[in-house]
Amino acid sequence: MNKKIAVIRGDGIGPEIVNAALGVLSTVADKFGHTFNYDDVDMGGCAIDKWGDPLPVEMLKKCIESDSVLLGAVGGKKWDVVPGHMRPEKGLLRLRAGMGVYSNNRPAKIWPQLADASPLKSEIVDKGIDFIIVRELIGGIYFGEHKTTEVNGENKATDDMSYTESEIERIGRIGFETARKRGGKLCSVEKSNVLDCSRLWKKVMHRLAKEYPDVTLTDMLVDNCAMQIVKDPSQFDVIVTENMFGDILSDEASMITGSIGMIPSSSLGNGTCGLYEPIHGSAPDIAGMDIANPIGTILSASMMLKYSFDMENESDCIEKAVYNVLEKGYRTSDIMPQDELSSSCEKVGCRKMAELIIDEIKAM
Ligand code: NAD
Repeated sequence: MNKKIAVIRGDGIGPEIVNAALGVLSTVADKFGHTFNYDDVDMGGCAIDKWGDPLPVEMLKKCIESDSVLLGAVGGKKWDVVPGHMRPEKGLLRLRAGMGVYSNNRPAKIWPQLADASPLKSEIVDKGIDFIIVRELIGGIYFGEHKTTEVNGENKATDDMSYTESEIERIGRIGFETARKRGGKLCSVEKSNVLDCSRLWKKVMHRLAKEYPDVTLTDMLVDNCAMQIVKDPSQFDVIVTENMFGDILSDEASMITGSIGMIPSSSLGNGTCGLYEPIHGSAPDIAGMDIANPIGTILSASMMLKYSFDMENESDCIEKAVYNVLEKGYRTSDIMPQDELSSSCEKVGCRKMAELIIDEIKAM
């Protein structure tokens, strides 16, 4: 199969982790007889430096015309001072909106080899953590009007949150379809005791539930959900929620599984062209040191193969290779056991970790 992949290395550790993932993708292409063509796209701080814009229109066009997009991360202190509409993160928001990806899917899964890295007690971890958060991505408060006005001699800030029924329905369907392919349990998370948006959310979810009799729908208030994720995460299969709640809950979920360096994500819209990226940022504190964990990006590439290119075997091959490398005790510094000296694990850098994964794929 021939596929065109738009590649956004971005800032900070972005280039290191994306290069690691491209090495893995090329190995898979060779092994399975595919051709992946990579089209470089500038986005984020590097695009501001080069083009004076975090996502020039031609760059967005390359992404829209690709079969899928692989992204490292954008941002860094250097660009914290530029005006809001020119910040690296604006490039990301414009990319998501331009690609029409309205669903962000983040697995929260504990790798058995890394169970000790979870901050939760072992009796909670041992019950198993394996759920997905389906987050609405291009609506809600992040995309509403933001303004600061002066009222009675003081500043007043307002952020507008709104959702239409159709926006809720399309993300709701992704939630139900995802639950259908997994354990058949969908938890809809909102704040319907306070917010109108949440009351509409709940109403739409229950209307949709009638079309998915094989999925069990439950409702949970967002504050309770934040507690349940640390108290008993094994209860969850699929969580579906709006943009801001999903942003916060998915970061919380990433912490309970160990390192954020391990977690991939996909963002999808109506077609098969998706945006695949690790959940972490550009980690400027470790950029250029060859110590970043590339696994979140490598697993993002693996999700791309599965969900956008229908290459299930190829994707499984990458996941098995990651499993084997972890099983053999190789760790980047973020996932090294705390007591490094008495551990039998071997610390490796970003490049080496990718090489080990590539070797496993070749050997399979
Ligand atoms: P971050 O995720 O970049 O880093 C948080 C901590 O986790 C840091 O200590 C970092 O070293 C560590 N870390 C992150 N990824 C790692 C990896 N792969 N391997 C090992 N350690 C890793 O979050 P931050 O420090 O809050 O943000 C840094 C920059 O990234 C900011 O400019 C922020 O706006 C941006 N950001 C970008 C994205 C994105 O591009 N999607 C997401 C979040 C933050």
